Amino acid sequence: MKNFTIAIHGGAGTILKSSMTIEKENAYNSALQEALETGFQILAKGRSALDAVEAAVISLENCPLFNAGKGAVFTHDGKHEMDASIMEGKHLNAGAVAGLKNVKNPVGLARLVMEKSEHVLMSGAGAEDFARSLNVPFESDDYFFVQQRYDQLMEMHQSGKTALDHTPEKKFGTVGAVALDQNGNLAAATSTGGMTNKKYGRVGDTPVIGAGTYANNKTCAVSCTGHGEFFLRAVVAYDVSCLMEYKGMSLEQACTHVVKEKLVALGGEGGLIAIDAAGNFSLTFNSEGMYRGMRNSAGKNVISIYT
Ligand code: ASP
Repeated sequence: MKNFTIAIHGGAGTILKSSMTIEKENAYNSALQEALETGFQILAKGRSALDAVEAAVISLENCPLFNAGKGAVFTHDGKHEMDASIMEGKHLNAGAVAGLKNVKNPVGLARLVMEKSEHVLMSGAGAEDFARSLNVPFESDDYFFVQQRYDQLMEMHQSGKTALDHTPEKKFGTVGAVALDQNGNLAAATSTGGMTNKKYGRVGDTPVIGAGTYANNKTCAVSCTGHGEFFLRAVVAYDVSCLMEYKGMSLEQACTHVVKEKLVALGGEGGLIAIDAAGNFSLTFNSEGMYRGMRNSAGKNVISIYT
């Protein structure tokens, strides 16, 4: 059996042990473990990295703890506008959706854009029409209502901060997964509700191939989380791949350089998960914490939250 690896994240930011309860921590840990297990079992059966990252991200989208799918944050207007993307590293095929309303699993629709349309990125009403044409499941606004997210929006409204100051505790809860399968193929997927209190039509890095998500069998698979405007400007995911391809850096060197030096110099907070074609992995962030986990065929299984 060839080696295989999966890594996931549930967002980065100011996640402090001092402001966490045991119950909350256990809930996060078990949701991360469940998503990791879902993806890992797919890889163990010899299925594709693409199937594994999609399934792991769907598991996190269905969990209200994370800012994607069911737990997506509220926009300034009290709506949910979700972004997602997926990419495979063998042929560099990719699909993405932006500004999506009411679609239960945006990452699943991103995969359908990749496989059933001639496009890479579809947005808003057009993407929703495309979803309907393929009988993709939709949910009502009630499904996406999470009290804690609504309270976060109300606090943001009261503080008068309209733009991108996120949740009060500055947490980016985007979810993502990267995987290497037994055939040596890499894949990455990312899904988000964006940032609390974002303006109508705002799109972050998550659905932008090369910024929030990238996969190339020659180098690595990357999924990002953080303040999207900075990740867009730094073209983070592709930059990691480029540093490996053109500068010969190792995965860890490339991730550290981009997240801890280049992003920090720009003022961009967040992190990423990445896997290379040899199964090396990196879970790198410049914030206080990042919900993260990885598991591989060699028996390594890690879930962590803080630095
Ligand atoms: N990167 C996402 C965005 O800017 C937010 C996050 O990672 O939580 O939309």
